[in-house]
Order: sequence, then structure tokens, then C-alpha cells
Amino acid sequence: MSSILSTDFLNQSDVKIQHTECFINGEWLPSKSGKTFATINPATEVEIAQIAEGDAEDVSHAAEAARNAFDTGLWSKMDARDRGRLLYLLADRMEQEMTYLAALETLDNGKPYQDSLNVDLPLAIDCLRYYAGYADKIHGSTIPIRGKYFCYTRREPVGVAGQIIPWNFPILMVAWKWGPALAAGCTIVMKPAEQTPLTCLRLAQLAKEVGFPDGVINIVPGFGPTAGAAVVKHPLIDKVAFTGEHRTAQIITRESAETLKRLTFELGGKSPNVIFADADLDAAAQGAYIGLFLNQGQCCCAGSRVFVHRSRHDEFLEKLQSLTKQRVVGDPFAAETQQGPQVDQAQFKKIMSYIEKGKQEGANCVMGGERVGEKGYFITPTIFDGVRDEMSIAQDEIFGPVLSLLTFDDKEEIIHRANATFYGLAAAVWTRDVALAHEFASRVRAGTVWVNCYDVFDAAAPFGGFKMSGHGRELGEEGLRAYTENKTVTLAL
Ligand code: ADP
Repeated sequence: MSSILSTDFLNQSDVKIQHTECFINGEWLPSKSGKTFATINPATEVEIAQIAEGDAEDVSHAAEAARNAFDTGLWSKMDARDRGRLLYLLADRMEQEMTYLAALETLDNGKPYQDSLNVDLPLAIDCLRYYAGYADKIHGSTIPIRGKYFCYTRREPVGVAGQIIPWNFPILMVAWKWGPALAAGCTIVMKPAEQTPLTCLRLAQLAKEVGFPDGVINIVPGFGPTAGAAVVKHPLIDKVAFTGEHRTAQIITRESAETLKRLTFELGGKSPNVIFADADLDAAAQGAYIGLFLNQGQCCCAGSRVFVHRSRHDEFLEKLQSLTKQRVVGDPFAAETQQGPQVDQAQFKKIMSYIEKGKQEGANCVMGGERVGEKGYFITPTIFDGVRDEMSIAQDEIFGPVLSLLTFDDKEEIIHRANATFYGLAAAVWTRDVALAHEFASRVRAGTVWVNCYDVFDAAAPFGGFKMSGHGRELGEEGLRAYTENKTVTLAL
């Protein structure tokens, strides 16, 4: 690994911060309590800005605004094609200021600017356009029932959607949540992650400028147990779409029981990435490398359990190490940087403690395992070899640049071990045997299975988890349906 860590980060003042308040009913407002919290640049540990700290009162205000915008039909009854047109306009505005949005994302989250610009922004824009095209294609069916009746179904928007998002892909998570909700005709109360509120706030302003009516999109920045919990409990909110940890989803499930909200969850994972003996090892090593280290390892679908067939272990490890050695960690604004800092101190400490645990439990740390520099939350890309299923680094979601390498001997054994986790978000298999690939895909209990590839995302392909990795799916038609209610209408003839 070559480190180019320097103190010469892009001057924070180069990225102008324009919005720090709550966005409610089309207006920028301080929190009712007057409280604020700091959002920190994880590369420098320097405060970027003070952000309005919303809580239950602000969420109530936002929920009333969203309810009103929904109930008056301002949005839900607008011609569907016009709703779609506004989504296209928002995507166009994002495209016009891509470099600014990418810089804002990098400043707040720490991910390399090249990734923000070339991965996150294009995916977010594409997602909004995908759902923009869906707005006027949401319809029910006619059903032949017994008797002299005309029976049909209508797909109606679910109402006010509460949306709580994490910090790992801030702008992309906004697009995944807003796209289907707005296309379906829902109005929104969103709580961005406390670590990364900046791009979400900017997108609210862009939505206002392109003509989204007041109250359709409302943003309340703040913390989970206060602002987030208020979204979950508010009686005027019909649904909660949440992305984050399964433990938070368990709290949300309990807290939403009173109002019986519709819930969709996209949660964590400990995804198996399985390399059979006949695999193209160069491609598999590249897939394992990207599948784990992408986004500083902060991906819910990270391939954090890499299983290689025992007969190819040494060769595979050598290839993986030679790729990882070249990974450039440092200033996220430098063009050559491939890995920035972890998002905050809490995540940094958690990852470092897992690295310690891995060593204590007897895994062999063959690469990395250290902090880079003294400022910023940088960690060297880390590989543990000789990992066993029962070790904590093979069981727990680390959410950092820590890859666990395990070996296996046969197919039945590996399918069993791949499934031996309460998670079920993603899995990958590397083989030239088509039948084996399909058998693995059908028997592994995961919402997404990649064959001879990893981290291939598309707005049209549903994404979500089996088991404790989630409820429901995002993206694709299924993602849209999660923002609709089905209504059956029966008319006597
Ligand atoms: P992470 O470890 O990725 O931060 P979390 O599940 O803690 O995962 O956070 C994801 C999102 O959920 C953030 O916006 C956070 O503020 C919010 N959140 C955390 N706790 C709660 C809660 N009790 N109720 C509602 N939202 C919460």
C-alpha cells in the first residue's frame, strides 16, 4: 500500500456550505429547540458546519406539511406524467452540479472524490430517471370475479413516507428513497444520517428550484433516538423506509407497533464470496478486492467472508495481496486516491477493535491492520488469512476495510457455511461451471447473488435482504410497489 496522506486537503472553504437547517414545507428553518450539531470532515477531523438538530417537534411540523401536501392531492393527484417530469428535472439539475455535489459528499463522508463523481452521482441520477419513467406506468388490473360485477384494482400511493438513511452512500440513498416514493405519489419526511446531512439538504433545495410543491419533500436532520424515533412514532406518517443496522430495525419494529406502519428495511450483511477451484482467479481476486474494499469497506453488501477452495488458496492470496498492496489510501480529494477515511471516530474505533479481536482469536493478519497517519480516520486495507467460521471477524459485520479469507473443500460444505449466518443480503460465486453457478444461486439464502462479478447495481434490479438483512426490496418495480397500496374496486353491473 502506498500512502499519500498529506495535510494538503482541498481547502474546506472551496466547498461552500449552503444549507444547514431543516427543510419543511418549502422553507429553511432552524430547529425549534435552537439546537445544532457538528458535521465533521473525517479526513481532517475538522468541523465542517453546524447543522440544525431536529427533534420530535420539528418532525411533527414536517409530518403535518407532508400530510397536507398528500391529503390535498397537490402531489398524489397531480398528473403522473408531470410528477415524472419533475423527477427528470431534478436529475438534470443534479447532473448540472455534479462536481459540487460530489465534493460536498466527499467532504462530509470521506469517500474518494473520484468515486463520488464517477460512481455515486451517476447511480443516483440514473435511479431518479428510472423512477421518473415509472410515474405514469403505475396501474392496477381488471379481475374476472363471479357474478355480475366489474372488479378492478388501483395502485395508490401509501401516503406520507418516513425515510431514515445511513451515512455510507448519502446521496445514493436519497435517490433510492425519493425516486420510488415520489413516482408513486407519496410525500416525504426524511431524516439523513447525522454524520452526513449535507448532500441531502442540497438536494432538497434543488427539488424546490425545479418546482416540487412545498411540503412534498421535508428534511429533518438530527439524531436517531430523537428525530429518527419521532419519524417512526408519528401518527401522520404511514410508512417507514429504513436503511441501517438490524439492531436499529428491531427498535423501529417495536416503536412502530402502536401506529402499525408499513415497514421496509435494508440492513446489514456478512456476505459470502465463494471461489471454486475452476474459477478465473484473476477475475475472482479482483472481485474479492472490490467486493470488500469499495467505499472503505462501508457497504452493507460487502463480500466480507471470502471462501476460496483449499487447492487454490496460496495462488489466490498472492493475487489478492498484490492488488491490495497497490491500493492508494489518503486525501480523498487527490485524483489517485482509492481509499479515504472511515466516516467517523466511532466507526474507526469499532474497526480497530475488530482487527485486535481477529489477532487475538488466532487469525493471521497478512496485510494492514493499522491506522494511517495521526489525523483523520484512515485504516490500511487489511487481510486476515486462516479465518475460521466461529471467529468474530467471520461472524460480525465490521463495516470497514477488513477482509476475512477462509478455505473450503466441497460444494455441500460451502453452501451450508455460506448460509450459516443470520444475514442474507448478498452472495457471490466464481466458477466456470454454469450448472454449479445456478445451483449455488438457488440454494444460497440471499437477496442478491452475483456470478463471476461483484457489486453490479442497477436501478432496475431489486435489492434487499433475506433473513435479518431486511424486509422488502428497493429498486426495480418491487421498490416502487413498496410505496403503493392496492385497492380493489367492485362495481355491480
Ligand atoms: P449506522 O451504524 O450505519 O449508523 P444506524 O442503524 O445506527 O446504522 O443508523 C442508520 C440511520 O438510522 C441513521 O440516520 C440514524 O440516525 C438512524 N437511527 C439510529 N437509531 C435510530 C432509532 N432508534 N430510531 C430511528 N432511527 C434511528
